[in-house]
This record gives sequence, structure tokens and C-alpha cells, in this order.
Amino acid sequence: MGSKPKSSEALKVVVRCRPMNRKEEAAGYDSIVSMDVKLGQVTIRHPRANPVELPKTFTFDAVYDANSKQADLYDETVRPLIDSVLQGFNGTLFAYGQTGTGKTYTMQGVWAELEKRGVIPFTFDHIFTHISRSQNQQFLVRASYLEIYQEEIRDLLSKDQNKKLELKENPETGVYIKDLSSFVTKNVKEIEHVMNLGNQARSVACTNMNEHSSRSHTIFVITIECSELGVDGEEHIRVGKLNLVDLAGSERQSKTAANGERPKEASKINLSLSALGNVISSLVDGRSTHIPYRDSKLTRLLQDSLGGNAKTIMVATLGPASHHYDETLSTLRFANRAK
Ligand code: ADP
Ligand code: MG
Repeated sequence: MGSKPKSSEALKVVVRCRPMNRKEEAAGYDSIVSMDVKLGQVTIRHPRANPVELPKTFTFDAVYDANSKQADLYDETVRPLIDSVLQGFNGTLFAYGQTGTGKTYTMQGVWAELEKRGVIPFTFDHIFTHISRSQNQQFLVRASYLEIYQEEIRDLLSKDQNKKLELKENPETGVYIKDLSSFVTKNVKEIEHVMNLGNQARSVACTNMNEHSSRSHTIFVITIECSELGVDGEEHIRVGKLNLVDLAGSERQSKTAANGERPKEASKINLSLSALGNVISSLVDGRSTHIPYRDSKLTRLLQDSLGGNAKTIMVATLGPASHHYDETLSTLRFANRAK
């Protein structure tokens, strides 16, 4: 493998493998994932050595192993994306992977522990540090927080949590969510407060938070407006939008569906994840004249931040243990398709 050209600047795909957890260690599972950090390669082997299922190697823009630091992933992979949003480009960061492999750990991490803080707290610091150092520029930072569950959009910052929001299209400004709240934030404390409000709204509204969070997509949106007096004496405004997306678990839903559990919901989850895969791979392909944004709520609302001038990063998360061979391989294949 490794025959494909390296992906463009517009899309970066990285893979992260979490450490074995206590349960897996206690159960004595083997680790089937190995990484070559220098080459950006991941190799997965079948739990039972057999001649049919040879080990498979995939190459990505970067790989992060169980020892990787939150700060390294941020500095090497995410920081350039935030810089380009500060320059007025749109950008999207996805965490994709099976439930329990570290999507939320990567996006949010553990806020109270400096070493474990994830992409989002780093991003907040980065944005407001940049603003405090800039001269002759005025910034306006706004934040929104929403969730897509069963193809329905919910505003996590709204007083009315039961209201379902609609996607609308404006011929000039494109797709937008009608009535979505957004808050102007002036510093890290304020934007953290907005995030906390949304996180609380989620946990209060859900009787089974684990199940809910594994089946919903959450999107934290930061819009950064920068105005500056140009050499022509005119005021120039640039707007960059950043979407931080913690996707629903990528695991196949057939096991739960077979137990009589909401097969309809399961198919909707797979719908937006597979629509995302299709959009990304047709963007990567470059020859497609039709990008199927309209196939799901997720891809429709991210339309202006995927493709075109926008920059996208996908962090695909994995676990190392042998009992998830099929899911782990399928995550690697999804990520590989996005290159
Ligand atoms: P997901 O959001 O994909 O369902 P989580 O982020 O909740 O998964 O992670 C599941 C568990 O694994 C959590 O307890 C988390 O702290 C831990 N974990 C995930 N990734 C890592 C990592 N890279 N290093 C250490 N612990 C991790
Ligand atoms: Mg999660």
C-alpha cells in the first residue's frame, strides 16, 4: 500500500489508537494494532494468525499511538486548521470511530487535568491568545452548539430543548439552521461557559447518556469575524467558521437492532455517517461533478465547510484490543477512503 498520493492540504486524515483499558487487560486481549509514527502507518493483524487474513497496513497523514500526548496532536495536526480559520477560511474537525475509542477524549479530554485537555480547550486558548496579540484588527467570536440525533437538529444552548430546528437555504448565504442560538464570547472563560451549558443540557435531557452520546453527532461551531482597515482605507471583514464535530459511534448497529432495539434509529445513524463518507470521498476523488451533500442533515449543514476553500481534518480513533478486529478494520477502511 502507500501507493496513493499524499492527501491534499485541504483534507488531512490522522489515526489515533488509545491505550488498552483495564477491562481489556484483565480479559487478556492481545493488541492487534501497531503503528509506525515516523511513516504514518498503522498495521492491523487478525487475532488468529491465518493465511487468508494477512496483516493490513494503511498510511495516513499522521498516526498517534497510545503514548501520544494531547498537546502533540493539537500542535501538529489541529493548530494549522485553527490558524486558517483565524485567516477567514472555514474548517471542520471530525472525530470518527467506534464508541469507547476516544472521540470525546480527543475533542474535549479531561478539562481539569492539564495533560489531558483535548482539542477544544486548546482551540479556545489559541483563538483568544491570537486575538489578544493582534493589532489594528477587531474580532467578534460567536459560539453555537448543536446536536443531530435521528436526523433531527437540537440546539444545545436554547431554553427550549425540545424544539427541533430546521435547515434552510438562502440563495446568497447558503445553508443555515433557522433559530440556532449563538453567543458572542469575549474570552476563554465565556466560551468555556457556553460549552458547559451545552454539555449540561445534553446530560440533563438524556435518561441514558451513554447510549445517546454514542448515537448522536455533536457540533460546536465557532464563527470568527475579523475586521481591519485595508491599505485602501476601507474596512475589510473576513469571516471564518470552525466546526468541531464529535460524531456518533461508527459501530454497526445490527447487534442492537437484532435485539429489537430501534432499528429505524440505527439506520439513520448509519445514514449520516455513510453520507459523510460519500461526500468526503467524492471531494477527494476530484473528478466528481456531483457532491452528495443533500443526503443527510450532517453533510448539508456542513456544506460550506467541506470542500471548496475549506480545510478538513478527520481524526479516526481506534482501540488496540483483539476483540474489536472487525470494527477497527472498518474504521481504518473508512479513514483510508477519505485520503
Ligand atoms: P468515545 O467518545 O469514542 O466513545 P471516549 O472518549 O469516551 O470514547 O473514551 C473512552 C474511554 O477511554 C474514556 O474513559 C477515555 O478517558 C479513555 N481514553 C480514550 N482515548 C484515550 C487516550 N488516548 N489516552 C487515555 N485514555 C483514553
Ligand atoms: Mg463520546
